[in-house]
Amino acid sequence: MFPNVLEVARKLIRERVQPGETVIDATMGNGNDTLFLAQLVSETGHVIAFDIQPQAIAKTKERLEREGLLDRVELKLASHEEIESLDVQAAAIMFNLGYLPGGNKEITTQAASTIRAIESGLHVLRPGGIMTVMIYWGHAAGEVEKEAVEAFCQELSQMEFLVLKYQYINQQNQAPFLLAIERRAQ
Ligand code: SAM
Repeated sequence: MFPNVLEVARKLIRERVQPGETVIDATMGNGNDTLFLAQLVSETGHVIAFDIQPQAIAKTKERLEREGLLDRVELKLASHEEIESLDVQAAAIMFNLGYLPGGNKEITTQAASTIRAIESGLHVLRPGGIMTVMIYWGHAAGEVEKEAVEAFCQELSQMEFLVLKYQYINQQNQAPFLLAIERRAQ
C-alpha cells in the first residue's frame, strides 16, 4: 500500500534532518509529532513546539517526560505566529492543521494566522530544510484555510522553494493532504 500522508511527511523530514539540529512543531496537539521530532534530533538537538491550548501542552509534556525527552524540547503556550520572533535556523517545521483530536472542535487553526506562521517559518527554514503542512479540511474553517494555504504556496518563488502536494484523489469525504515545501539549497 502507498504510505499515508503523515508517513510521507515524516519520511521527507527524516531524510533531511541531522542529529543536533533545531526543528519546530507548529501545532503540538497531543504531541505525536513533537515526540517524533525529539527522537529525530537526538540529545544534542532542539525542538520548539507551539499550541494555544494548555491541554495540548500538558499532554505533550507528560508524553515527553515518560520518554525522557523533555530536556530537548521547548513547549510554548502561544500561537505559531510567534515563530516570527525566533532567532533560529530550522531544519524542519511541521504543521498539522485543524482541531485537537479528543478536544474542542471549535478551536481550530485559522487561515490568516496559519499563513502568517507559514510565512515566518519559511524565513527561519535553513537551505535544504523542509516545512510540511498537513491539511485537514473536513470542517468549515478547514475549507477556507485549505484554499488560502494552497493559494499562498502556489505563489512561492520556484527559484527559492520546491512545493509538493501529496494527495489521494479518489477518496471521499475531503481526504487530508500534504503540502511539503523545501527551501532550495544555495
Ligand atoms: N500534531 C498534533 C499531534 O501530533 O497530535 C495534532 C495537531 S491538531 C490537528 C492541531 C492543533 O493546532 C490543535 O491542538 C490546536 O490547539 C492547535 N492550534 C490551533 N491554532 C493554533 C495556533 N494559532 N498556534 C498554534 N497551535 C494552534
